Amino acid sequence: MLGRMSPGCEGTHGVFPKCNFACKPCYHSEDANHVRVDGMHTVTQIARQMHMLQKQRGPVAHCQLIGGEVTLLPAADHARALEVMRFYGRIPMSFTHGDFSYEYLVALAVTPEGKPRFRRLDFAVHFDMYMYGRSEIPRPESEAQLHEYRKRFVDMFRRLRREHGVRFYLAHNMTVQQGNFGQIADVVSEIQHYGFRLLSFQPAALQGVERRRVQGLGNDGDALWREIEHGAGARLPHRLFQMGDTRCNRVSFCAVVGAGASARVVPLFDDRSAGDARFRDAMMSQFGSIALPPALLWLKGARLLLRRPWMVVLVALWAARFLSRCGNLLDLLLWRVRLLTFVMHRFMDADDVRAAWSLMENGYDETSKKVVDAGLLETVERLRACSYGMAQVDQGRVVPACVQHSVYDPDENKALARELRIGEKARSSAFWKLEKRRG
Ligand code: SF4
Repeated sequence: MLGRMSPGCEGTHGVFPKCNFACKPCYHSEDANHVRVDGMHTVTQIARQMHMLQKQRGPVAHCQLIGGEVTLLPAADHARALEVMRFYGRIPMSFTHGDFSYEYLVALAVTPEGKPRFRRLDFAVHFDMYMYGRSEIPRPESEAQLHEYRKRFVDMFRRLRREHGVRFYLAHNMTVQQGNFGQIADVVSEIQHYGFRLLSFQPAALQGVERRRVQGLGNDGDALWREIEHGAGARLPHRLFQMGDTRCNRVSFCAVVGAGASARVVPLFDDRSAGDARFRDAMMSQFGSIALPPALLWLKGARLLLRRPWMVVLVALWAARFLSRCGNLLDLLLWRVRLLTFVMHRFMDADDVRAAWSLMENGYDETSKKVVDAGLLETVERLRACSYGMAQVDQGRVVPACVQHSVYDPDENKALARELRIGEKARSSAFWKLEKRRG
């Protein structure tokens, strides 16, 4: 699907490396917390990175506003960062640990005059029991203890929609390691009803700060996917829409159908159905990329049906198959359906990535005669099919996020720690004052 359904995912780097949690594992490099949060740096670097992503990867893409903790940025700087990303055609998603107040959210979403800045805010929140520092529960002992905070997070956005009319799209992320592996099914079964639109799981990799590393899960992702399926109470087909390498990514598009105790997860597509495969192929050849803002997606769909009316038949056949999977027409008629996507993303260990990247930088590709061991070959293949890119502006190219974190982050953050010293005054307020004067 990479390059057909979407150009893949993008993310920022080095724009606000600092975080106020002490997670284990932590993917940030040693110096990340020595870099001052500085709105002017954030916004100008984002502009550089987005400009390059737009030039190299196309006019529209989903892009993660990611680095350290995004809500350490003053709300005005955070809002400006989102505006700049949108200016460059990106659909931004802010990555947070979720430990911030409703007042911050309002200041981000609404202007001082009380007008909504955005029609919709996209957030990815990371919740797992090995994140230390949450103000009300600094060291949780189980995943279940975090449910209340997961729920409160969604409720905060519901309140924002009620009071200010700003809609939301929320993704829930967790890092999985041996200690919480056995709790994954319970987490999925509980939080699938909370109102998140995407549940994403990342098996821990050996990345970032050495002293905070933990052992990885040591499997190919099958065992974790089975746990997720167990919690969802359904088989989660992932082979019809493969983004990049199967060893990196799995995605299953589903719906939660029904309400209360009868609510259940129903896959939108089944990878064992020849009809669904044909429908996917038709959609890919006729519809193409879905990396568009929601309003444009609807418009594009309507235009397709007008130009190719026969697609209605394929849509109707797919709807009939989905209906038979649901098993209850009443829930659909009462519109008790909510989309929910399941994702697994397996980052790679830093040592493996460094070795593979050095090989690739020295000209290794599939035509090379050089014999490399199976592990190294796997890493090279996965990097070459990477679906998550970050802009290396000075090099004029986009690199896999694994490479950014394993190879470039440590030196980048060292340089940033010198340039943006903690304790020196942040440049954001002066920057915005100047901007205001210029109108
Ligand atoms: S190479 Fe790394 S960043 Fe790219 S898709 Fe695979 S795991 Fe993700």
